[in-house]
Amino acid sequence: MTAKTTTHEFQAETKKLLDIVINSLYTERDVFIRELISNASDALEKFRHESLTVDDAFDAHVPLEVAIDLDEEKHTFTITDTGIGMSRSELEHNLGTIAHSGSNTFLTELAEAAQKDVSLIGQFGVGFYAAFMAGTQVRVQSRSWDGSEGHEWTSDGSGSFSITEMEGLRRGTKIIVELKDDAHDYAKKWKVESIIKQYSSFVPFPIKLEGETVNTVQAIWTRNRSEITEEEYTDFYKFIGNAGDEPVYRLHFSADAPLMINALLFAPKENFEVLGFGKMEPGVNLYCQRILIDQHSKNILPEWLRFLKGVVDSEDMPLNISRQSLQDNALVSKLRKVVTKRFLKYLDEEAKKDEGKYLDFWNTFGIFIKEGATSDYEFQKELSKLLRFESSKSEAGKPISLADYVLRMSADQDTIYYINGPSRAAIEAGPYVEMFKKKDIEIIYTMEPIDDFALSHLGEFDGKKLVSADRADLDFPDNDADKDKDDDSEEAKLESEAADSLVTWLKEALKEQVADVIVSKRLVDAPAMIVNPDGYMTSSMERVMAASRAEKGMGFGGESKKNLEINPKNPIIKRLSDLQKNDADFAKDVALQIYDNAMIQAGLVIDPLVMVERNYKILGRALGE
Ligand code: ADP
Ligand code: MG
Repeated sequence: MTAKTTTHEFQAETKKLLDIVINSLYTERDVFIRELISNASDALEKFRHESLTVDDAFDAHVPLEVAIDLDEEKHTFTITDTGIGMSRSELEHNLGTIAHSGSNTFLTELAEAAQKDVSLIGQFGVGFYAAFMAGTQVRVQSRSWDGSEGHEWTSDGSGSFSITEMEGLRRGTKIIVELKDDAHDYAKKWKVESIIKQYSSFVPFPIKLEGETVNTVQAIWTRNRSEITEEEYTDFYKFIGNAGDEPVYRLHFSADAPLMINALLFAPKENFEVLGFGKMEPGVNLYCQRILIDQHSKNILPEWLRFLKGVVDSEDMPLNISRQSLQDNALVSKLRKVVTKRFLKYLDEEAKKDEGKYLDFWNTFGIFIKEGATSDYEFQKELSKLLRFESSKSEAGKPISLADYVLRMSADQDTIYYINGPSRAAIEAGPYVEMFKKKDIEIIYTMEPIDDFALSHLGEFDGKKLVSADRADLDFPDNDADKDKDDDSEEAKLESEAADSLVTWLKEALKEQVADVIVSKRLVDAPAMIVNPDGYMTSSMERVMAASRAEKGMGFGGESKKNLEINPKNPIIKRLSDLQKNDADFAKDVALQIYDNAMIQAGLVIDPLVMVERNYKILGRALGE
């Protein structure tokens, strides 16, 4: 009987990837060994976990291990594992497509990134294809742990692969790499051994090279902190995070109550999400008594801590818990709470020890902390301590904490103020900070829209309300120092009667645009500003909501009407009061222009075409047309 052979084309993205792997990434080929060992280890972990829940797994007696055999004559590198194995359809799917939804941009960026640092390829789940960096021909013989028929997958990496039934296989997978002419070293024991030592010392199964175990199997996170060297920690981070960089923070802790926990968490140096690689997968694995229960667990930490790498191990977890039931398991949520609080506390302590180092971390990963602050009530208190913002009293580029702000507050101030703007310069030139400057009250500058969402979500810090300075009902404490100044400028101010009639006229002239017009108690120099009668939403939050509505095709608009505050001391406003009586049409143009200008300063949307046309009309008049 002839064995049934089928031939398949690689998925288009896989072909591109193979092309990159074969043609661009030959400089650091060593990593192919790491990738294959890592897959073998994953397969063994999967088998170990699955076999906990069944009585008679196929080939149950076979020890869990990785074997590497070399043939210097035939120039082959062979790696065998006794893991979970693959069925025909798994071979076809897992080794023919890229699990990661590969788009062209993803591949282009990957190609660029990988040329800089080849260790990146593992992070994108394309590890197996690394075999073609060193091999002309790759054969994968595999038999699933369900005991069904075994198969051989073969390919030269150029465009297609074929799969044939194969008898006499044991459970697991054997991969035979026929080495390229310039890659014959990978059949030499000293070479392979040094690569294993470098990349794979933490694999939790014995790796036997030509029959000899070359790694020491150990769970570093259960060892005593004082016995672990910096180098071991870093090596472990690189192993568990599939990473090429060094971690910036590391927390290794154990607890006995309320739960038995051993955790080892790392914050990496790079944030791949902002580099444009899409949303990160969580990087922390859940273990129970040193057995992997859930790799890249979505349950053990909140989503906004997805940038962390590491291990959480708890002896209290039932070993045979299924991955599906982790999600709503009470023990898991308790574990998540304890570990998350502990990590956030650790970050706060580190920031107190070395603020400069924390700011580096903040610049890279602050966005995740903000994400937590906008979405997670459970850890609000801990998260609010970790936020950093620039302020009117901070140096440019040197953000401060809310605690710093509170320390500097005067005794009669009960509110923390903030204002959003595109940059420090834009905020400082705008109308919102005028009274703060005059009264020497510190104000936080929020330069990202998410900042306003975070602060408004927090609501308060250390018992002090968090309030956006573009709120309509802002109240400043009167202090004597500026009473005098106010008295001095009294003469220059529009009479209250004139101001009232201007307000009445403006309300009518701008009735389509604004909810209300008010004589400002806050403005110092600027003629006018937009404030929000709705105390919860800030202008920048509205802008974001409006943009997302537009993106979803729900059309522009829908923002609530604002209030316009006018400054009775400003010369333009004073002249407008007269103009309104003599030339109402032109006065209306000026009023609309003042409104548009104030909207722009608030970062809100106006109709630019209408505005430009009107502006030319006003200029024409100014030039004596
Ligand atoms: P990743 O390991 O990130 O998923 P790879 O390209 O390294 O990506 O592997 C692709 C898939 O092929 C794996 O997810 C796994 O399902 C399967 N696979 C690879 N090697 C093995 C193996 N030795 N045993 C079982 N399955 C494997
Ligand atoms: Mg892999």
